[in-house]
Amino acid sequence: MAQVTGQDRGPAQPAAPTGDDPNAVAAPFDPDIVARLADEYLRDGSAGVPAATPPASAPPSGPGFYFLTEAPFAGGFPGFGVNEVRPEVVPRLDAGPGQFDVMAVRRDFPILDERVHGRPLVWLDNAATTQKPRAVIDRLSSFYRHENSNIHRGAHTLAARSTDAYEAAREKVRRFVNASSAREIVFVRGATEAINLVAQSFGRRHVGKDDEIVITWLEHHSNIVPWQQLAAERGAKLRVAPIDDQGQVLLDEYERLLNPRTRLVSLAHVSNALGTVSPVREMVAMAHRHGARVLVDGAQAVSHLRVDVQDLDADFYAFSGHKVFGPTGVGVLFGKLDLLDSTPPWQGGGNMIADVTFERTVYQPAPARFEAGTASLADAVGLGAALDYLGRLGIENVARHEHELLAYATGALRSVSGLRLIGTAREKAGVLSFVLDGFRAEDVGAALDREGIAVRSGHHCAQPALRRFGLEAAVRASLALYNTRADIDALLAALKRLQGGSASG
Ligand code: PMP
Repeated sequence: MAQVTGQDRGPAQPAAPTGDDPNAVAAPFDPDIVARLADEYLRDGSAGVPAATPPASAPPSGPGFYFLTEAPFAGGFPGFGVNEVRPEVVPRLDAGPGQFDVMAVRRDFPILDERVHGRPLVWLDNAATTQKPRAVIDRLSSFYRHENSNIHRGAHTLAARSTDAYEAAREKVRRFVNASSAREIVFVRGATEAINLVAQSFGRRHVGKDDEIVITWLEHHSNIVPWQQLAAERGAKLRVAPIDDQGQVLLDEYERLLNPRTRLVSLAHVSNALGTVSPVREMVAMAHRHGARVLVDGAQAVSHLRVDVQDLDADFYAFSGHKVFGPTGVGVLFGKLDLLDSTPPWQGGGNMIADVTFERTVYQPAPARFEAGTASLADAVGLGAALDYLGRLGIENVARHEHELLAYATGALRSVSGLRLIGTAREKAGVLSFVLDGFRAEDVGAALDREGIAVRSGHHCAQPALRRFGLEAAVRASLALYNTRADIDALLAALKRLQGGSASG
């Protein structure tokens, strides 16, 4: 039976798999369980680990709930008041190649010229997906015009062209994450599929009864559910490292969860709900000291900061193409070569085999053994174009631009009375989650949409992280390299109009 535990005093186990229903694994989102967990936390007052499902309009007063208090914005906007909260850790600001001209960058993204409800589009939903530069759109079109063929099999010119384009994209990804070999780069459908691949292949082989898998409270559902499924199947335990009131993993608690039974740790590099940048290098090293392997979920990291899988010493690193200005339908799993080569495939089919008889199949080495069937070829090639584009801008330039914008946006939102920022880590990427007194998150989202401003409202596929702050839903504005102060000003003005009861429609 799968067990889910936090710290030793952590959450109770969710419902056990129900008898003979093969689809039934742990039932983590059952409201009764959530209510029970909430009661337990509130009863034993475990300060570091609150969990509850109170209505967003009535934040609980129990221990550990943290909101930025409604402090006057003393310094005037833009600026920071006495109770300011702004991300303190400045990303590496080495000059990248060339100057970063955000207005020129914006011209590379045709969709930014769209109008929505008669207003210019303000795209602040980048944590959900990023927009695509012309370089990517044109590359997709060019692939279908000049190269389209299945790869690796056909002995003709177009097969050679598409194979070259696909493998060139793999090499671009290798360079982007600084893997030591292109064989360590597996193309998948996205971060979700990458994590499921590891859970279903590496996990099934290495996780057994009473073994432990460690995640954190920051995780996206994609980095929770596959581990619950694996734990349920293998009779293993899922353990969850708690976060503090700013949304940072409590490293001493995390370390306390690690022990010789820990087989796998899986953690977000950057939280999609709170923007927290976790010290993954340090966390990987801690896990390795206990003999555990580590998967880093980089879905929200790759478009904001330089990723070096060798420096992180990550065993696996997962991300999605569409969050880094590439197409949907393609993503990447990096895995250390010895791990990939000793891991069985998870899907069978064409492309992943060396030889098939009815008696037995010989698999290809990595990465082909994990790429059964026809891959999303054009999308992989498009992802390569996106990484080229980002490389031309210089990721350090992007990081600096976003950091400045995050500081500006944090100040702007702090100036809105009744607005509470959720997630105030010292080191953050461009995510601003908030609730607004007197308004439901979905109503804020709808009001902003009427003004052409796209934000996300809801649970952001990270219900445990939001519930940690006593919330079922929040509004999330998330930044990317093409956002400007004007975008933030538009958001601020719309929020103030909404509060004044004059949201334009
Ligand atoms: N992990 C994180 C941190 C994410 O933000 C997301 C997407 N929101 C995912 C995993 C899943 O990515 P995808 O849906 O592209 O597979």
